[in-house]
Amino acid sequence: MTMNRRQILQFGSAALPALHALTARAQAPAPAPAPGTAPIPAPRIVASFSILADMAQELAPTGAQVTSLVGPDADAHVYEPSPADGRRLARADLVLINGLGFEGWIERMVKVSGYRGTVAVASSGLQPRTGGHHNVDPHAWQDLALARRYAVNISAAFAERWPRQREEIARRNADYTARIDSLDRQVRDWLGAVPRAQRRVITSHDAFGYFGAAYGVDFLAPQGWNTHSEPSAAAVARLIRQIKKDGVRAIFIENISDRRLVERIADEGGARIGGTLYSDALSKPGGPAATYLRMMEHNARILAAALQG
Ligand SMILES: [Zn+2]
Repeated sequence: MTMNRRQILQFGSAALPALHALTARAQAPAPAPAPGTAPIPAPRIVASFSILADMAQELAPTGAQVTSLVGPDADAHVYEPSPADGRRLARADLVLINGLGFEGWIERMVKVSGYRGTVAVASSGLQPRTGGHHNVDPHAWQDLALARRYAVNISAAFAERWPRQREEIARRNADYTARIDSLDRQVRDWLGAVPRAQRRVITSHDAFGYFGAAYGVDFLAPQGWNTHSEPSAAAVARLIRQIKKDGVRAIFIENISDRRLVERIADEGGARIGGTLYSDALSKPGGPAATYLRMMEHNARILAAALQG
């Protein structure tokens, strides 16, 4: 299929088409090899960023090769595709993106690379948080209940692309969503133990709105839903006043951001840094947030500890 320009343009809008509409024209599955011929090559899945790549790894049929365009600890908001990334996209059997306008660069990248397969949107069908000027908050993975929806959408795209592995894909989806549900309950318990008035946190960009809405935490940040522009001096001064006035006790660095700004805010407000939150990317392998579920667990644990005081 050729990439439908209208589909791509709809990725950032609240009225996303159902996922099956996006995947309906997926390439037909490769035919089984005749006896004595080479085996079918492993399915190649390219995810836009590390969190989705991990979900895809959990949900993909055995033997799939999953790679990520934007790697661990990297900021997808300001990613600039390299020619090598374009070639990787062109060779993919399926491309997976977050949607909600998170990957502002994907439309052009698909066009330039010549990739003609399915672009599956993990956030398809969910109700996003919205702001002024038709802005949409893309960070829906920060709510485990919405991540469950991601898993179901991703599994549906995989089952459509690789129908002969449907049963295995369904089993993996059931196992993964059960683990998501269990962690969701655990996070509610941890944060529920903190008095509501103490649940105020400062981070560097506004990536935790879904987390805050789901688990009852107020997040303040000098930068908005993306990191394209520097925070204003007024926004920084406002946060420093807020720390002093309201005694905000938890200030966190983000793994994808320059730590100096948050350190300055903490310093001038007379507050202590509570640790590092993983917002838009996993940690490197061996780090505290090397998978999506470990990332959510890590964030909730250090938040609960800092807010308890
Ligand atoms: Zn972000």
